Amino acid sequence: MAEMRFAGSFTQQEPIPEEGISAALELLRTGRLHRYNTVPGETSLTARLEAAYAEWQGAKYCLALASGGQAMQIALRACGVRPGDKVLSNAFTLAPVPGAVAAVGAETVLVEITEDLVIDLDDLAAKARASGAGHLLLSNMRGHLCDMDRLMRVAKECGLTVIEDCAHTMGAKWNGRRSGNFGAMGCFSTQTYKHMNSGEGGFLTSDDPELMARAIIMSGSYMLYERHGAAPAAEAFERIRLETPNMSARMDNLRAAILLPQLDWLDDAIARWNALHDRMAERLATLPGVALPHRPEPELYVGSSIQFRLPGLGGDAARQLVAEAAARGVELKWFGASEPAGFTSNHGSWRYLREQSLPRTDAVLSTLFDMRLPLTFTPADCDAIAHHLDAALAALRSPEGAA
Ligand SMILES: *Cc1c(COP(=O)(O)O)cnc(C)c1O
Repeated sequence: MAEMRFAGSFTQQEPIPEEGISAALELLRTGRLHRYNTVPGETSLTARLEAAYAEWQGAKYCLALASGGQAMQIALRACGVRPGDKVLSNAFTLAPVPGAVAAVGAETVLVEITEDLVIDLDDLAAKARASGAGHLLLSNMRGHLCDMDRLMRVAKECGLTVIEDCAHTMGAKWNGRRSGNFGAMGCFSTQTYKHMNSGEGGFLTSDDPELMARAIIMSGSYMLYERHGAAPAAEAFERIRLETPNMSARMDNLRAAILLPQLDWLDDAIARWNALHDRMAERLATLPGVALPHRPEPELYVGSSIQFRLPGLGGDAARQLVAEAAARGVELKWFGASEPAGFTSNHGSWRYLREQSLPRTDAVLSTLFDMRLPLTFTPADCDAIAHHLDAALAALRSPEGAA
């Protein structure tokens, strides 16, 4: 059995590009790690990264931050969310999303998802009206995009300001438009398990000068906002600069040094992720009982992870499948567990929220499994993983019969 185990690591990312390593070493020798610690005439690496990311994203403004979670908190505040306000969000997301809403003192109202793992737009309209919420923090969880054109129409009809959580959709597009460019602000993460890797880090993007001016002051710019790489003109700061609190969430030059060359690689990384994803999807589709979410034609996804459902599978069988897969070296996440495990949790574990009834979401999550697809995997690894999952499913059907 030992040689039968899959030996790859689901959490092993690629190394930082050599260019990033040498830029980081050079920076360390100067000691000027803080983004505002520059010599006359110098543009900091963080400011350069902001300019480069804004251009790549096709957004007017970009702010580099300490994390994706900070990007969401600052976006919520910049867009006017106040303590006690209600903020809508899809119920299938990661814990930092309701966490960001809680951090601004607001209350998350969870919206149902569909079997394709995206926000249910009918439930969104109903809950927007019933709750009186003015904001939607849309989490493009696991890289699945809803019909963004229809979502923006619903948001307009219901008077919702949309903030996009693009932690899993950096580089994705809907109908040719980049994820993050639909709502008032887009939030991105450069944490190790996302599409760029600086350990921790994030971006906030927007085309709105006033929102971005507020966000920059909140990020901890002091009165040095003219030293940003993709910021609105100084006039945008005049009115808000003294009434906006400083919340210290800056990125530093060391992270910017290792991120800059990764941006040059991002399109290539996306192509490689999608090759792995599509190979894995093709193999999973041949396994008995496996249902893959439908990926609509207008969606250009970034397949850095893959999800599948086993409709009809009970809780005990789901736990058994996770164990059988683990015994074969395959790290499956299950979103239906009653207790959170590692990074994986569901809305039932976010006890600081008012308890909410989400029967359709619960039905989907109870049979939903997930795997990361790091770029250190090869297409042959995808075949091996599918082979082991096939064996794990067979063991589930007939425990004694499994060889
Ligand atoms: C990782 C993640 C975040 C937060 O990013 P951090 O940089 O870790 O704070 C937000 N939303 C989703 C869906 C994520 O996966």
